[in-house]
Amino acid sequence: RAEDLARVAGKLLEAFESPFEINGQPIRSGASLGLTLYPIDERSASGLLRNADAAMYRVKRSGGGRFCFFEPGMTEQATDRLALEADLTRAVERGDLRVSYQPVKALASGRITGVEALVRWQHPERGLMLPSLFIPLAEDCGVIHELGAWVLRRACEDMATLAKDQDLRLAVNISVRQLKHPQFEQRVLEVLEQTGFDAGRLTFEITESALFGGGEVAADTVRRLAEHGIRFSLDDFGTGYSSLAYLRQLPIDKLKLDPSFIGDDTLSSTDGAIIAAVIALARSLGIDVVAEGVESAPQVELLALHGCDQMQGYLISEPLSVEALVAWLRGDPSSLGEPAD
Ligand code: C2E
Ligand code: MG
Ligand code: MG
Repeated sequence: RAEDLARVAGKLLEAFESPFEINGQPIRSGASLGLTLYPIDERSASGLLRNADAAMYRVKRSGGGRFCFFEPGMTEQATDRLALEADLTRAVERGDLRVSYQPVKALASGRITGVEALVRWQHPERGLMLPSLFIPLAEDCGVIHELGAWVLRRACEDMATLAKDQDLRLAVNISVRQLKHPQFEQRVLEVLEQTGFDAGRLTFEITESALFGGGEVAADTVRRLAEHGIRFSLDDFGTGYSSLAYLRQLPIDKLKLDPSFIGDDTLSSTDGAIIAAVIALARSLGIDVVAEGVESAPQVELLALHGCDQMQGYLISEPLSVEALVAWLRGDPSSLGEPAD
């Protein structure tokens, strides 16, 4: 019965709570369990294993350390996911990825100070896919290292001369898994050398929660790369838990204020209060604030009122292909072309 199965699963998970001793070393390990019932869910052995696997995937995706019963629909999702993972690995090799560039503007001077590189996947059947659909997958199956390296190289190649001529910075998003890879630093330095992109113009963006959950390995890599002149921004600031102590310990140079803080068309006084508080905090630590997802003139007014440094969003420009970006920077509306997505 399901109740019995749940009790056994609970006991198994409990056994993983204390460390195991291997060669005198305490080793911690977690467990994720997928459960399925015979003969209710399935009668064949292979079908039962497939069900259990799909249920286990569900647990792993939500952080692991639990058990989960199989539900109809899970196998299709798991199969779909596996197909997408395989496609993604091929896409990186075949060059089906694209990079779009979204301009960043200084509020006070109105100058374009840089661009953020955003990856897209031109899927042969599914069409243009945005990163939220495949970055988590890439992180899970490990292809994020190749994908991230490709994006960095492409962006540095595209921007090497443009950045110098127009005095622009390039921001590239990275996942914490990349930061923790033992060869990350070396590979980044190689790309910079081979593309001739100046390290002093490169910023890595990493989400607040990912960086603070990345431990000392990630923090050390950040510090070492910063010594080469690379800067770091905290992305989606305000959505994770912010350790203020960490902000001081790491060479963070920018906070990117999550769009949820600048509201939509109905800006409230609490929005203003939060923006003011974040900007004041950043100021006192010598950190710049970039507002993301700026779509309307009232939002710009509010940001200017509180002394926000820079902004980014559809009001300024959508993410553009490199060709469209060049035309946009030239201020040539006739050659603006289609936005990249
Ligand atoms: P992000 O770094 O916070 O990027 C900002 C996202 O907001 C982008 O979505 C951008 O297209 C979108 N955006 C820009 N202006 C506006 C606006 O005015 N309104 C609204 N509603 N949205 C706006 P996108 O391109 O779908 O990227 C989503 C996330 O995927 C990024 O969030 C970033 O965390 C991640 N990502 C993108 N490229 C890469 C990459 O090469 N590597 C890694 N690891 N992550 C990436
Ligand atoms: Mg970003
Ligand atoms: Mg963001």
